[in-house]
Amino acid sequence: MNAAIPGTLIDPFARRISYLRVSVTDRCDFRCVYCMAEEMTFLPRREVLTLEELDRLCSAFIERGVRKLRLTGGEPLVRKNLMALVRSLSRHLKSGALEELTLTTNGSQLSRFAHELADAGVRRINVSVDTLDPEKFRAITRRGDLGVVLAGVDAARAAGLAVKINAVALKGVNDDEFDGMIEWTHGNGMDLTLIETMPLGDIDADRTDQYLPLSIVRDRLAENWTLEDVPYRTGGPARYMRVAETGGRIGFITPLTHNFCETCNRVRITCTGTLFMCLGQDSSVDLRAPLRASEGDEALHRAIDEAISRKPKGHDFIIDRAGAKPAVNRHMSMTGG
Ligand code: SAM
Ligand code: SF4
Repeated sequence: MNAAIPGTLIDPFARRISYLRVSVTDRCDFRCVYCMAEEMTFLPRREVLTLEELDRLCSAFIERGVRKLRLTGGEPLVRKNLMALVRSLSRHLKSGALEELTLTTNGSQLSRFAHELADAGVRRINVSVDTLDPEKFRAITRRGDLGVVLAGVDAARAAGLAVKINAVALKGVNDDEFDGMIEWTHGNGMDLTLIETMPLGDIDADRTDQYLPLSIVRDRLAENWTLEDVPYRTGGPARYMRVAETGGRIGFITPLTHNFCETCNRVRITCTGTLFMCLGQDSSVDLRAPLRASEGDEALHRAIDEAISRKPKGHDFIIDRAGAKPAVNRHMSMTGG
C-alpha cells in the first residue's frame, strides 16, 4: 500500500523507511560512562548543521514518507535555540505529514522546556534515568544531578507529556534496582524500557564488565512480577511486556541477544548530516555536501535514494571478549541511539 506513494523510501529488503532519528548536537552536559569518555573533543561548530539545515533535511525525509521524527543527541536540549527547530518542524504535524515529533533527553533541561515542547505538539518523550540513587546517578553520568532530572520528569508530566523512562542495564551497577524502577515508573503512569549496552565507540571502561543480557534480567523480574506478552509497538526496536501487578508496560531493547533487524524501519542522521542506514554498521552517506551545494533539494534527494538502496539487512554487533573493542567506532552520542 505504502509503496504506491510516489517517492516513498523502500530499501532493498522491502522495508519502508518511516522513522528518522536526528542527532542535533554531539555535545552533552553529562558524560555517561557507557556513552562517552571523560574527556571528549566535540566537533567544531562549522561542521555541525545549522538549525535551518536540520529543518531542510528533516523536511526532505518527511516529504519522502517519514512519519515519525525523533530528536536526540548528545543532549538535544543543550543545543542553542533548539525550540526554534521544534516549533518550525511542528508545521508538519499540523499539516498531517508527520505523525509524531518526539525527543530523547537526559532530562537536565526539562524543567525549562517541557511546556514549550508540549505547546509545539510534542506528545511523548523518552527520558534516560539509569538509577534512582543520587550517588550512583552522579557516578554513572559523571556530573548529573538526579534531583534536577526528576524535577524535569515531573515538569514534563505536568505539561501533559507522556514520559517513557529509558534505563541502560549495567551489571553490578543498577541490576539491583529494576524492581524499584518498575514501582516508580508504573506508579506514576510511565512506561519503562531497559536497554542492553551496545558496543559503540571507545569509552574508558571495558564493556564486557558492564554487559548484562536482558534475558537474565527478564528471568529475574519474572520471579517477582507477572510478565505478560503484549503486541504493543511504538515503531522502535523495543519488545514490550505488561506487568500484571501494576498494569504498566516494560520494554526490552536487546540488540545483542535478539535480532530486530527484519522489521527495521529507521535511519539515523548525525549532527554533521551523515546518514547511517544501520546503528550497528559503519556504512554511511554524507548528506551535508548535497545540502550545502545548492538551495534546491534535487542533489539531496538523489543522495538519500542512493543511501537507502544500500541499507544493510542486519547489524554486526558482537562484544568481543578477547579485545573488548567496539564493533562500531563512533559513539552513541553521534547517532543518538
Ligand atoms: N542525551 C540523551 C539521553 O541520554 O537520553 C539522548 C542521547 S543518548 C545517546 C540516547 C540513549 O542512548 C540514552 O538512553 C542512553 O542511555 C543510550 N546509550 C548511550 N550509549 C549507549 C550504549 N553504549 N549502549 C546502550 N545504550 C546507550
Ligand atoms: Fe549524554 Fe545521553 Fe550520552 Fe549520557 S547517554 S552522555 S546524557 S548523550
